[in-house]
Amino acid sequence: MTTPVTSAEISAAIRTVPDFPKPGIQFKDITPVLADARLFSGAIDLLTQNFAPGTIDAVVGIDARGFIFAAAAARKLNAGFVPVRKKGKLPFTTIEQDYALEYGHATVAIHTDALQPGARVLLIDDLLATGGTSAAAAALVQELGATIVEAGFLIELTFLHGREKLSGFPIRSLIAY
Ligand code: AMP
Repeated sequence: MTTPVTSAEISAAIRTVPDFPKPGIQFKDITPVLADARLFSGAIDLLTQNFAPGTIDAVVGIDARGFIFAAAAARKLNAGFVPVRKKGKLPFTTIEQDYALEYGHATVAIHTDALQPGARVLLIDDLLATGGTSAAAAALVQELGATIVEAGFLIELTFLHGREKLSGFPIRSLIAY
């Protein structure tokens, strides 16, 4: 039996890159976690630990690093995987949601047939910062009539108070800064 991975071990592997992609941003680089088989698998175990396989209909992942964790979580939970993408990337009919950035705005989209009404959804992204991205993704999921049973993040930047933008479902993060 291998020892379960702890969030402290995952935290130790996350690399903070100063001033990327622009001055003042402390970028949390999760690629060392992905590259380590034990840590990657452990991160998925922790992100899915509240759910048994078969109890979630779809794991919704947010463009782009969220896809990596959400797809692996979906496989583990025997659920479908649904992408929320930046505007203009999805080929079929979409609904879109605008959200504010520090300067300007951005738009995310989901396919109109991606989720059934009443579907039980686990929403996953790598990092919760201001919450704008995940709040927009959550709004799309809810617009399709699905139910978010939890939103999970590898990392939460608590000083940006992103969770205040997310309401109506539990929020879990493995590592808080
Ligand atoms: P926000 O909408 O402010 O919550 O930003 C969340 C999105 O931006 C996530 O998809 C993250 O991947 C990305 N992001 C924001 N801040 C950082 C950061 N410091 N390091 C890495 N990714 C970030």
